Amino acid sequence: MRNLKICAVVVCTVLLSIFTSCEKESSENFVNESPRSISKEVLAKITKLNYNPNGVTKQMITDIDGTKKEMYLIEDDIIMSYDQIMSADLHGGIQSKQYRTTNLVTATNVIRVVGYNGNNQYGLSATAQTGLRYAIDNYNNENLSIRFELSIGTSWGPNDILVYVDNSINPNPNQSSGIAGFPSNGLPFTRVRINNGANTTQTNQHLEHLLAHEIGHCIGFRHTDWDTRKTCGENSNEGVSNDGLVYIPGTAGPGGDANSIMNACYPANTDGEWSHYDRVALNYLY
Ligand SMILES: [Zn+2]
Repeated sequence: MRNLKICAVVVCTVLLSIFTSCEKESSENFVNESPRSISKEVLAKITKLNYNPNGVTKQMITDIDGTKKEMYLIEDDIIMSYDQIMSADLHGGIQSKQYRTTNLVTATNVIRVVGYNGNNQYGLSATAQTGLRYAIDNYNNENLSIRFELSIGTSWGPNDILVYVDNSINPNPNQSSGIAGFPSNGLPFTRVRINNGANTTQTNQHLEHLLAHEIGHCIGFRHTDWDTRKTCGENSNEGVSNDGLVYIPGTAGPGGDANSIMNACYPANTDGEWSHYDRVALNYLY
């Protein structure tokens, strides 16, 4: 199950802290576990933003275009840059219920998705390309106000969601299989990375699930089980963070939805299809 851990990224998460005592405990653990290279300044800001400061690591991320950037990996599947962390403000305050980020895709009705198929380490396998097609079809079959246009190739535009293999982030199959981020400026997050383990060993239904999940983050979805991460066999909450956590009316709410594509981890027998409440949420937001 651990190898089916999904998500990622950027902001997938959050931790708020409903439980003050947990927060304190996490901070104490962090002192023991974190690399010294993470400054107190950054750690303090991460804590202030209600992310879990426990286990934060720094990673040099190389984008597919060759640019390198040092990023902080937070809560297992969120990446944020130093600038993002230090410039982030708590806007709107902390809310106790949520399932999406504050930001949604509002600046466009058409989202282009490019499945990268270059003949190099970044290229998606044939199975992953199939899974991506299934995932995009699942979005478009909901007849949302946003439409996804998928192409498979090696060129992409600045606002396209580029889906590719990046084994540098989590080469360990026991860690997150995919990483993404949250929308900004009304546009989707533009990178979905999956590791090579997912790319080469998972079924097209696993990849359908994984890629629908990561694209869900790119358009503003938080984890359905953000408050427990119980699908990962954990009992922790991700908190709220400055990305916000906004409850979507009509969805399962506390108690969760075992079949949601947007749970933090997914079962080995997933069929990759939306749950009832996933559809409610998608159609409410878009
Ligand atoms: Zn996720």
